[in-house]
Amino acid sequence: ITHYLYGGDWENRLKQELLLGLGGIRALRAMGIKQEVYHCNEGHAAFIGIERIRDLVRRKLTFSEALEVVRSSSLFTTHTPVPAGHDAFPESMIRQYLAHYPDVLGITWEQFINLGKTNPNDPEERFSMSVLACNLSQEVNGVSWLHGEVSKDILGNMWPGYFKNELHIGYVTNGVHFPTWCASNLRRLYMRYFPEGFSGHDYDIPAWQKVHDIPAAELWQERIFLKHKLVDHIRKRYSDPAQVRIDSPRQMVQIVEGIKPDVLTIGFARRFATYKRAYLLFTNLDRLSAIVNNKERPVQFIFAGKAHPNDKPGQDLIKRIVEVAAMPQFVGKILFLQNYDMELARKMVQGVDVWLNTPTRPLEASGTSGEKCVMNGVLQFSVLDGWWVEGYKEGAGWALPMERTFADQRFQDELDAEMIYNTIEEQIVPLYYKRDEQNIPRDWVESVKRCVADIAANFTTNRMMRDYEERFYGKLAARRHEIVAGDYMLAREIAAWKRRISAAWDKVRIVEVKQAKIDREAMFVGEHYPFEIKIDVADLRPEDIGAELVVAKQIEYGQPVNVIETVPLERTAVEGTTVTYALDYRSGRSGSFDVALRIYPSNPHLPHRMDFALVKWA
Ligand SMILES: *Cc1c(COP(=O)(O)O)cnc(C)c1O
Repeated sequence: ITHYLYGGDWENRLKQELLLGLGGIRALRAMGIKQEVYHCNEGHAAFIGIERIRDLVRRKLTFSEALEVVRSSSLFTTHTPVPAGHDAFPESMIRQYLAHYPDVLGITWEQFINLGKTNPNDPEERFSMSVLACNLSQEVNGVSWLHGEVSKDILGNMWPGYFKNELHIGYVTNGVHFPTWCASNLRRLYMRYFPEGFSGHDYDIPAWQKVHDIPAAELWQERIFLKHKLVDHIRKRYSDPAQVRIDSPRQMVQIVEGIKPDVLTIGFARRFATYKRAYLLFTNLDRLSAIVNNKERPVQFIFAGKAHPNDKPGQDLIKRIVEVAAMPQFVGKILFLQNYDMELARKMVQGVDVWLNTPTRPLEASGTSGEKCVMNGVLQFSVLDGWWVEGYKEGAGWALPMERTFADQRFQDELDAEMIYNTIEEQIVPLYYKRDEQNIPRDWVESVKRCVADIAANFTTNRMMRDYEERFYGKLAARRHEIVAGDYMLAREIAAWKRRISAAWDKVRIVEVKQAKIDREAMFVGEHYPFEIKIDVADLRPEDIGAELVVAKQIEYGQPVNVIETVPLERTAVEGTTVTYALDYRSGRSGSFDVALRIYPSNPHLPHRMDFALVKWA
């Protein structure tokens, strides 16, 4: 089942995910490993929550009590920026493999299958692993700031009645493992000039500023050493016909002699998913030829990558690059290296001068190869997408803007290609070839230093782990302790409370809304405006319901709603089942806003509003 990661059909994928989730927890249990917090990376592993619930149900908790325990100790990280990337299975397929699970968990089939659905009881909707993971996790995050925002769009309809910028979805930007990806000569150099940057468990990020103390000549010499290593490696590869596809011995010689360590070298390597747009550079071959064949200031491009065997467009892309690389004007100047693996990746991210990344916005959830580069002083030239939105610093690399200019992707591609050629010709090439009397590109080295000092230290796994600890793991561990204390007392209480609210919620009614008379359609800053709402709380207690005024930037058609403030109303009267809430609102802001009242189930023991996101708008 697992021998080919992406080999099979949807059924095979489901089997893999059952093995990973249900099997994974059983494996941990068999090994006697018990953890407090469970981190589900991508929806693929979401069945871990189901198996943990099963364990707790065996220990005599009800399903909903067990769900509270599992949620309180679970983090779900989504890594996918497109809806289609979230695995979803037909209900019938889930039934074939998991028909016995609802019984074991003590729930109905409908309750079980609805755990993976945004619209409960919709027979057509597929069972989504990401929805399952969200339902089983208290906390959710994306893998860069931008991807966190995109994830709110993708998953947002799980919490109807709340706006995107109210959701609890956060982010931790991916990082890469410094000891694995930083070249050893550079590591030694850094250690010599700022050893304190690496002492202790956390890297001391400010200490990395001392990279500016390294003499330009010394740093440049190490960079040149790494370029030589890459070029030597490529020459060796091209001298072995078993390793490369070559049309003729003549071509082989041309390539081996063509590739040079003193030429500005731009690298591009990745999985050839089409969203990465490797073809962009080939939009205008004449311009590309002028760039690589410039007599005084030549440029060479090194491509590497792999496409999934079933990914025909990805395969075609590689074919196209190989084709271009074999054209007379590009032989030895544009190379494509096969068998992209970690070994080749290490040589490339350490050995090139510039790393080019051209994803379709916003489809790069994070991207990591660029992070591998910056710790080696390899300058990034990338679309502002994924991690680069946070990483880009002026004078330490180059960026294509984050906003799309054209909705039509072909126009956008053409524009991006133009900007790539221009940036290479007008900025990158001149900076690289501007040398002092010792043939050192001082300004370039200055950029390299800024890249290490201001960017690299923030994109290590070390920083990433600290973020996870501070933003999620610590919070979840504390929450779990609270939930399980005293024989799961809080879990039982919250489960019972949610059951009671769910049963009564449809009967809760907004009876009356009184709103201040607003003169001339305007409120004035500093003046008082009373709001009042009467609610029939039905079978619920007055304290089970909260009411609030929601203030948003004036809503524009087609734009996301931007909630800037929610102000709670106070309970002022209780008569029978009718409860009155009031607010004397005083705005401190000027501008155009929309305001509205809404009510929600209120319980101080909930971790956040989305934990139980029922809501009624007045
Ligand atoms: C780092 C790496 C990747 C991932 O690169 P992205 O920029 O995150 O797409 C893929 N393959 C190999 C061999 C790598 O080293």
